[in-house]
Amino acid sequence: MRLIVIGGGAAGFFCAVNAARMNPAMETIIIEKTGKLLSKLRISGGGRCNVTHACFSIEDMSRHYPRGANFVKKAFHQFFTADTIAWFKERGVMLKTEADGRMFPVSDDSSTIVNCFLQEADKYGVAIWMNREVREINKTGSQWEIVLANGERHQADKICIACGGYPKAPMFDWIRRLGHSVEPPVPSLFTFNVPGNPLTQLMGITVPRATVKIQGTRLEETGPALITHWGLSGPAILRLSARGARMLAERQYQFGITVNWLPPQNEQLLRQQFQGFRQEIAAQKIRSRNSLGIPQRLWEYLCEQSGIGADMRWGDLPSAKQNILLKNTCSQEIRVSGKTTFKEEFVTAGGVKLAEIDPNTMQSKRYPSLFFAGEIMDIDGVTGGFNFQHAWTSGWIAARAIASGAY
Ligand SMILES: Cc1cc2nc3c(=O)[nH]c(=O)nc-3n(C[C@H](O)[C@H](O)[C@H](O)COP(=O)(O)OP(=O)(O)OC[C@H]3O[C@@H](n4cnc5c(N)ncnc54)[C@H](O)[C@@H]3O)c2cc1C
Repeated sequence: MRLIVIGGGAAGFFCAVNAARMNPAMETIIIEKTGKLLSKLRISGGGRCNVTHACFSIEDMSRHYPRGANFVKKAFHQFFTADTIAWFKERGVMLKTEADGRMFPVSDDSSTIVNCFLQEADKYGVAIWMNREVREINKTGSQWEIVLANGERHQADKICIACGGYPKAPMFDWIRRLGHSVEPPVPSLFTFNVPGNPLTQLMGITVPRATVKIQGTRLEETGPALITHWGLSGPAILRLSARGARMLAERQYQFGITVNWLPPQNEQLLRQQFQGFRQEIAAQKIRSRNSLGIPQRLWEYLCEQSGIGADMRWGDLPSAKQNILLKNTCSQEIRVSGKTTFKEEFVTAGGVKLAEIDPNTMQSKRYPSLFFAGEIMDIDGVTGGFNFQHAWTSGWIAARAIASGAY
């Protein structure tokens, strides 16, 4: 029996090395179009590789996938975060957890993961063909024929497509020709540009907790927000970009957001607090210091935007200006125009439709002996190790089904 895995990335390797170990009689080959193996994994997590997330509840974990939550929920019952940690530990790779839950190899070096996979491939005799691009696959009787860009043709009994996320729709054509349908790709995990907005003068400021809403939708995220040269970034923004990926693409990245710089405060609660300040610290300058927990530079900016001069004291704050300050602090409206790719970790939303894949085996519902793993499927997670966990889970499930010989 011969298995051909298309794609030498995270999911392809995980499928190949596990399938080869589980069924040593099987010939396993990885076909990779470039001259590099595991190239995204190498640069992932700033070169440290954020392998997974320390989340051990399937329910909670699945909430981190804007697309594919129900599918991964089923799949995680078979291979989950604890299995990932154990898998690497059995091979001498220890993982550590950072304060925000992200897990990395203790070496803080993605080459630890790369070397682990290369050793496993070597140990179980996985053949690796590089610089070969798969252009077409055809079913001929019970066999598959694989046609490469260089004209070579190869036979296989089983195929696992693990070619990652394609950024452009035509790149999926060879998969579409099989009869599979594909959700068109759009970028996920990007930052919001606010060109010309004076807010960008505050670049470098991190607001520990902000609530950002996309106007006219129910999309809202709370978390750290970072003000950059171009606009807004940070976990709250990236999560929002992932949740709104398709809708924001349709709006061509022109939309409005409403930011609360001080959640869970709202205008009403903050008004009461301001009333207190007007009496208790009436002589104190409003801009000079804030006890609210907002970064001081941002507070000064909000005051300035509200027309509050450097010398104005709490006792002298006119109610009209107070109203503007309340609005700017708790529901500031900002126009977004364009996006910037988040270099640390980005993924493509879209891919092979999940209704056509069995989550228990990763087998195509259109063809027996055809499997999928990783980002080629219409599944993507937010930042934090969720995309790799999906690559491990789907790669392992496909490997088990393939190695069993039952499919
Ligand atoms: C800069 C960056 C940092 C990231 N950091 C993290 C992180 O820290 N944590 C996290 O969870 N996720 C991270 N991600 C996302 C994560 O890397 C991907 O979700 C993951 O690599 C997907 O694995 P995959 O095997 O499905 O695809 P890939 O890793 O993209 O591998 C697919 C492979 O298939 C090959 N291929 C494609 N088409 C063909 C073809 N026709 N024939 C042959 N070969 C083909 C490609 O060349 C590629 O090598 C990051 C992504 C980027 C871009």
